[in-house]
Amino acid sequence: MCRHFAYIGKPMPLAELLFAPDHGLLEQSWAPRRQRYGTINADGFGVGWYAPDDPVPARYRRAIPIWADRSFADVARVTSSGAVLAAVRSATPGMTPEESAAAPYAHGPWLFSHNGRVEGWPHAVEELAASLPPARLLALEAQVDSALLWALVLERLDAGDAAGEALMHVVNAVSAVAGGRFNFLLTDGMAIAATAAGDSLFWRNGTGGVVVASEPCDDGPDWHQVPDRSLLTATAGSVEVRPIPALTKEHA
Ligand code: GLN
Repeated sequence: MCRHFAYIGKPMPLAELLFAPDHGLLEQSWAPRRQRYGTINADGFGVGWYAPDDPVPARYRRAIPIWADRSFADVARVTSSGAVLAAVRSATPGMTPEESAAAPYAHGPWLFSHNGRVEGWPHAVEELAASLPPARLLALEAQVDSALLWALVLERLDAGDAAGEALMHVVNAVSAVAGGRFNFLLTDGMAIAATAAGDSLFWRNGTGGVVVASEPCDDGPDWHQVPDRSLLTATAGSVEVRPIPALTKEHA
């Protein structure tokens, strides 16, 4: 379900990153090749990107398929960025179809996306939800599992976790109480953190920059698959992948 994409590198037009590649996010919205759950990603899309000298990203989201938005295609042609996070959505049954549920979610300098689902939503995660400060719960961006996961990640970031630590913590905390798939993407415009936990994830360190995506955007030879239950962290020139350790009691 869903396909997501992140890029860090030299500034590139959004259209070059998302629309030009043979199997880029645009094509993945109607013909994904590696998607294990769901067949088409037509329940909205979102693109977040950073402009020079501004730590807070811009965000464009719609509840319609990415291919149906001619205006965004035009804007994307003339808008360049060196840090982008984008997603096309296949809404999990029962979740709101509204624009507010389309990734990326945002807060301050952060952009976040979740590819997957929480099984047994919402009952299975009631206790986790109750562990959040009420203000954070009231501020949930949408009635959707991904928004709660984002609130849990933000809580860890506010507590001082590095991006990768926050993602791993939430993968483990949610897996401990509910089944599901938890592929996350998180960026602050300078680095990318991502988890492979139930669905496909690939990366490429090309000449212009690093791409982390649910699936390869072209048939080039330099794509690497991230093993399941791994954390990927990347900056413009480097990529590191390591296993997600199990949650120990003291960190629970
Ligand atoms: N569960 C999330 C939603 O409904 C993500 C869906 C997905 O990965 N397809 O939006």
